[in-house]
Amino acid sequence: MDTLTFDLTDPTQYERGISQAASAITRGGIVVFPTETVYGLGADATNADAVSSIFRAKGRPSDNPLIVHIADREDIFLAASAVSADAMKLAEAFMPGPVSIVLPKSPSLADNVTAGLSTVAVRLPVCPEARDFIRACGRPIAAPSANLSGKPSPTRAEHVMRDMEGRCDVILKGYDCSVGLESTVVDLSVTPACILRPGAISSKMLSEVLGYEVRSSYREKLTGAPKAPGMKYTHYKPEASVTALERGTPAAMAELIREEMGREDGIRKAAVVFEELLGLLEGISPVYSLGSVDDPVTYCARLYDALRWCDTVGAEKAWVTAPAPGGISDAFLNRLEKASDRVIDMSGKEA
Ligand code: AMP
Ligand code: MG
Repeated sequence: MDTLTFDLTDPTQYERGISQAASAITRGGIVVFPTETVYGLGADATNADAVSSIFRAKGRPSDNPLIVHIADREDIFLAASAVSADAMKLAEAFMPGPVSIVLPKSPSLADNVTAGLSTVAVRLPVCPEARDFIRACGRPIAAPSANLSGKPSPTRAEHVMRDMEGRCDVILKGYDCSVGLESTVVDLSVTPACILRPGAISSKMLSEVLGYEVRSSYREKLTGAPKAPGMKYTHYKPEASVTALERGTPAAMAELIREEMGREDGIRKAAVVFEELLGLLEGISPVYSLGSVDDPVTYCARLYDALRWCDTVGAEKAWVTAPAPGGISDAFLNRLEKASDRVIDMSGKEA
């Protein structure tokens, strides 16, 4: 398939890019577009054939539902058939924003968008390029992340070019994603509301608006049917086998990385670490810096770029340092754990 590519950071390509992307959607095509969380691969959410092209392009299992994107808050009924008082409160507080709200599904949506569920996850992005694109389409846009199924989500234009060129009708290149992790998914089709996937909108932020403690169900051990569709699949994995280092001091984490990366076993290795470790890892390479351990916005925005970098340098094994839990760092930990084959709890290890 020939893919038309437009760079929306170039003002001379903006209008044509948006209009060509919207006409591809109207014809039943699929389009990659930037958002503040990760790049999305969109189709007309009311067109079942267009939606099935998304599953085909990604190699995504069809029982894993897609999020439906709208351009303006008043369009919520294009996707949902009912909006409760609590849902309205969250929409007013966090839409536009990096959150998806699960509501009863509108009958106008194609059934394969929600994998046959009676509920739909609705999202209104902040990213102006995303909103201009969705508004130009004049219909709700079903979109998962624009990566091949199982791989880390794309957060930079070069990531989508690698995964999706030749697999979709149009690619709209934008700036690097400012959040860099997928939206918080909140289930409001149940009472009390609960978090199905952590993201930049934290449980504390949701609880403050709703006036009660919003709990998470994503940590529960999976027995039988997963709470959120999609939980049973592997996610975010680079080619390298990843070891996550949790709850360690910079010195202890650096010592472990030095020891395991220094072994002469003929395996290609890489480390992804907080800036604070760089001085302790002299002579070790290659190393990717996540930025400071005190700068969650930066390390969250860099995680998927770091996991993809492990593939670029041909690593077979990679070591990644993890932050302490809380707030947006919970989203980082959730994605890193899913990307990892080994998690080392370093609490108690002094160096
Ligand atoms: P992504 O995998 O980035 O495409 O995001 C879609 C994710 O949103 C799915 O894997 C689910 O975890 C979640 N999701 C989408 N629709 C629903 C729904 N109706 N109910 C619960 N979770 C949903
Ligand atoms: Mg995804």
